[in-house]
Amino acid sequence: MSSKVLVINSGSSSIKYQLLDVETGEALATGLLERIGQPVGAIKHQGPAGTTTLEQPIPDHEAGIATILALFAAHGPQFEAADLAAVGHRVVQGGDRFPGPVLVDDAVETAIDELSTLAPLHNPPNLDGIRAARHAFPTVPHVAVFDTSFHTTLPPAAYTYAIDRTIAKTYAIRRYGAHGTSHRYVARRTAELLGKDPADVNVIVLHLGNGASATAVRGGRSVETSMGLTPLEGLVMGTRSGDIDPAVVFHLQRVAGMTTDELDDLLNRRSGMLGLSGSSDMRDVHDAVAAGDEVARTALEVYFHRIKSYVGSYYAHLGRVDAITFTAGIGENDDIVRINSLAGLERLGIRVDAERNAGRKKSECVISPDGAEVTVFVIPTNEELEIAREALDVVAASGV
Ligand code: ADP
Repeated sequence: MSSKVLVINSGSSSIKYQLLDVETGEALATGLLERIGQPVGAIKHQGPAGTTTLEQPIPDHEAGIATILALFAAHGPQFEAADLAAVGHRVVQGGDRFPGPVLVDDAVETAIDELSTLAPLHNPPNLDGIRAARHAFPTVPHVAVFDTSFHTTLPPAAYTYAIDRTIAKTYAIRRYGAHGTSHRYVARRTAELLGKDPADVNVIVLHLGNGASATAVRGGRSVETSMGLTPLEGLVMGTRSGDIDPAVVFHLQRVAGMTTDELDDLLNRRSGMLGLSGSSDMRDVHDAVAAGDEVARTALEVYFHRIKSYVGSYYAHLGRVDAITFTAGIGENDDIVRINSLAGLERLGIRVDAERNAGRKKSECVISPDGAEVTVFVIPTNEELEIAREALDVVAASGV
């Protein structure tokens, strides 16, 4: 069987893709289509012939997938459908129905559609990508890999909200978590770098990107995670508030007359670092702090404070912590966030070495001092490779 997998991450107005060789872990091509549905779409394809950028209309996802095929044909690498072991699709919400990746058939498509009520911004475009790709590659197995699967091991004490049980059951209200593919990949790499069996390792993974989440992983299984029913709960993010008192919502409805859509927009798109400092990008926040902006400084302190609260909480839940691992755009690049979020936790065996921590990290490294009780790592995440691996495993196990 070939070990090549095309990974597709289809959003509402964009499609990211990678052609990977799972055996070597190498990305043979990567690309991004943006502004789908707008008058002019933006296309970037990186392959053996270098980088190609184009601007042309991409009316819908069907046209997007056709464009990707044309890019491969024109700029390489050349491949036949027969060379592909699978197409792996990222799907954000699998609810409690999908504890692992599955081969896509019509029933799976229907289930992803039904789960859209829990992820109205994500599942519908994920499904658009799946439908278009199944159409384009009818003979290749398609595998859905869910962001939520890794967290289906959460115990009831962690996933249950303390609200009316009947209402929770009727409307499937519980914590599902997100970023699971990244947390799974990073937790496994952490165990590998420690030279231990994942079953013997307890790790706190801090995925700090534009979206951000923390997960407590015991013996390879997610036991607590910061995102909830939706990716709004938990850490402070680029534009999302993370944890707030839910009474803020009805208070603003009553005193400011805000509608449901306005509140959704406020908390998902106008809060977090953007709401606090004016920019969702951590680089801008640091520049503002360096220029003496006290508002930006407070925003950063809120950001560190929230991470520290989660680290302490997850330490308590895990009992023993072998490692803390930073990943994603901020986790990999931002030494100020890393050192400040873990400052003052020496009594818990958590220490960061200033010299080791300094600078952006392009590859896996340890940033705690030698002999520290808790090893602190930076591990670049690779969700595409994880999706490709899982897709290949599903295809191998199914014998198609
Ligand atoms: P997502 O996949 O959630 O969109 P990423 O994991 O790519 O996000 O992270 C993007 C974020 O990473 C940016 O918004 C920015 O805040 C942060 N970032 C990127 N590079 C740097 C850097 N050099 N220093 C600090 N933060 C950075």
